[in-house]
Amino acid sequence: MNPLSVFLRARYNKGFTSREAIERHQHKAFKHLRQHIMPRSPFYAAYADKPLSDWPLMNKALMMEHFTAINTVGITKEEALHIALTSEQERNFAPMIGQIAVGLSTGTSGQRGLFASNKRERALWAALMLGRFSPSFLQQQRVSLFLRANNMLYERLGNALISFAFYDLLHSFREHLPRLAEQQPTVLIAPAQILGLLAQAQQDRIINIAPRCIISVAEVLSPEDQHKIEAVFGVTVDQVYQCTEGVLGMTCRAGNLHLNEAYMHIERDVIDKTSGAFAPIVTDLTRETQPVLNYRLDDILIPDNEPCPCGCASLRLKRIEGRCDDILYWRGENGAQLMIPSDLIRQAMATVQTSINDYRTVQHGQSLLEIWLEATDFDPACNEIAHKLQALAARMNAQLPELRFHAGITMQIDQKRRRIITITEKKQRN
Ligand SMILES: [Zn+2]
Repeated sequence: MNPLSVFLRARYNKGFTSREAIERHQHKAFKHLRQHIMPRSPFYAAYADKPLSDWPLMNKALMMEHFTAINTVGITKEEALHIALTSEQERNFAPMIGQIAVGLSTGTSGQRGLFASNKRERALWAALMLGRFSPSFLQQQRVSLFLRANNMLYERLGNALISFAFYDLLHSFREHLPRLAEQQPTVLIAPAQILGLLAQAQQDRIINIAPRCIISVAEVLSPEDQHKIEAVFGVTVDQVYQCTEGVLGMTCRAGNLHLNEAYMHIERDVIDKTSGAFAPIVTDLTRETQPVLNYRLDDILIPDNEPCPCGCASLRLKRIEGRCDDILYWRGENGAQLMIPSDLIRQAMATVQTSINDYRTVQHGQSLLEIWLEATDFDPACNEIAHKLQALAARMNAQLPELRFHAGITMQIDQKRRRIITITEKKQRN
């Protein structure tokens, strides 16, 4: 797969029209992976002729542990870590070892991950994004990208047709606004939380921008945020579901989120039979520097089995439920643990009549739910929320955990924002 074919596919191809077509495509890609990539990885060489089910189940911690043996270019973990950490501290985001860029991810769990990519892999990302989302190539496009850390991956966006500006989330958000207003982006790419803040700034007339394309990346876009952003800017928000492990999915022209099955083989670790909720186990069919094989992500995805009007047969998602740690479990009948989709909590919060500016809920085990609230009328809001959640529990045949309310929220802009968080004493699943 080269950047041009990826670009053309993203731009002009509607995607695979049948499951068989996806399987044929992946079969070929697996063959390439086994013949040309796995033999170059000391860790994976011995698995190249073994079935996928025999490959080690990978995760972030194991990937970190075996980094030196997994990558195909002979970079040691110590070398990569040293260069990534130095560049993070200096806020200089071009950490390279030869032609290989290295980056460091923190993720919601706080656990560090290293990722390495070569020039071709970085170009693939840009080709995919621009092919799918650039409004036009007849005019110069100005792309604004808000991310926690820059790296060479994103700088690939800059060329004669596209000007590109990077906004570091570790700098003050307010300081970015004048520059953003001056840049007048045609394409705005940012985490959902930042898009929400930008919509607020536009509403407050601090900025006046008119992007033609808005893409939410790197964290879950809640329906509340989506509506607000769309209302303020008057364009549909597209979603790219990506993490350091790759681009896992994006919205199609019909506005639905599909998994990126052209470049990823994705198996499901089903954790809830009723909704079909699953944690994806991904095998990236394009990566060669640091193979991502049989890698279980901590995300929970809710599938949508209805065919999409866009005609693409790649699996459609109802939504990304969040990290595994975001799912709430309440006590159900007979004390069994019952999954409460965070969507239902959001819905309950959205229907509260007393005005709420923002909230966070943190669930501890099955017995305590803490709620931080920003509301002018704090006590009435608490009463109403308690009432709504009690009704939700009754509807789900679940026992409502003890509720504990706190006034005010401390915003942490440089961290991924989650409105709903579950803290488990012991990991329930791994
Ligand atoms: Zn679609």
